[in-house]
Amino acid sequence: MIFLDNASTTKVYDKAIEAMDKIYREDYFNPSATYKGGREALSHITKARETIASYLSVKKDEIYFTSCATESNNWVLNNAFKNKKGNIVISCGEHACVYETAKNLASKGLDVRFAPINEDGTVNVAELLKLVDDKTNLVSVIHVSNETGVINDLATISKKVKSKSPKTLIHSDGVQAFMKTNTNLMRLGVDFYSISGHKIGAPKGVGVLFIKSGIHIAPYIYGGGQEKNMRSGTENVAGISALGVASQCYKELYNLTTIEANYNLLLSEIKSIDGVEIIGNTENNSKLIVCASINGVRAETLQSIMADSGVYIGRGSACSSAHSGNRVLSAMGIPDSKIAGAIRISLSPQTTQEEIITATNVLKENINKLRGYQIG
Ligand code: PLP
Repeated sequence: MIFLDNASTTKVYDKAIEAMDKIYREDYFNPSATYKGGREALSHITKARETIASYLSVKKDEIYFTSCATESNNWVLNNAFKNKKGNIVISCGEHACVYETAKNLASKGLDVRFAPINEDGTVNVAELLKLVDDKTNLVSVIHVSNETGVINDLATISKKVKSKSPKTLIHSDGVQAFMKTNTNLMRLGVDFYSISGHKIGAPKGVGVLFIKSGIHIAPYIYGGGQEKNMRSGTENVAGISALGVASQCYKELYNLTTIEANYNLLLSEIKSIDGVEIIGNTENNSKLIVCASINGVRAETLQSIMADSGVYIGRGSACSSAHSGNRVLSAMGIPDSKIAGAIRISLSPQTTQEEIITATNVLKENINKLRGYQIG
């Protein structure tokens, strides 16, 4: 089996499983308990918080553990309006968990503004700035697109937004960026940043929200006061610990030279197929995601027969693949006929050149098969 759908989820690292196993079997105490075992459980959380904070170049007190990035994003967006005042601006390239939350706010009559994206998938910064005024509470721009892998220049966007409206807060969904590109949040100038464990070899069900110190946001869940009273509920100690361990594993395995070589190999193999168009901007892109439209085949069918051949690839966002079409690709101006054939291949630091060669050979065979069936 060759798994090339790593933007949808990833295999959990053995070391993360070992860390969880120890917690479930031995250190299963409630981290709020003040006796020795409780303190031990709490120390796993503290360690993970320190690790994540160091990879984001922020203070550990600015890290809040959540159940997933969807929760982190909902937390920020749903608190962006105080007394229904002001407006928020999001890009049209956002993941569903930001976009649908914003749409829900708009359906309640709140002023939600949508900034268009360019042909390459990046947000149109000039248009975004036109939407920002001194009443803008929040701007939310995805860091790396889950659809195309294109990277938004957050440092420039934050700077320009803040110079037009100094009080506006900046949020970014960093799910496809964390550990995969530069996420020095001080340099990026964001106030909120969301990450998800299961995209970097941690289990599903653990996420993070960075909240810059000094920023006021209402708690997400009220209760026993965990996460500094901001997100109550007994912590997912095993998941949180695994997130810290997985991010260390990811860092150890991440070799930029190898990853770039793999990306270039994948690109050249895909480009060698007739009737293929690469979607996005290969220069300014995550080296782990390739989105391509294949003429004359339906991505859904191709994905399914590829899986039958033992190669797993994606098509658009897994979260939205139950819906037809692709909102983000449409916003890039890609016609429905091309979207129908759009696949997404996403790599991990462990992906090998042999896997890429085998997978692209299987891809070529299956495309020929489908085109043959369609012609015949
Ligand atoms: N944001 C982006 C960019 C994603 O790719 C995903 C997952 O598909 C999410 C948010 C949602 O993350 P989670 O599954 O942790 O809720």
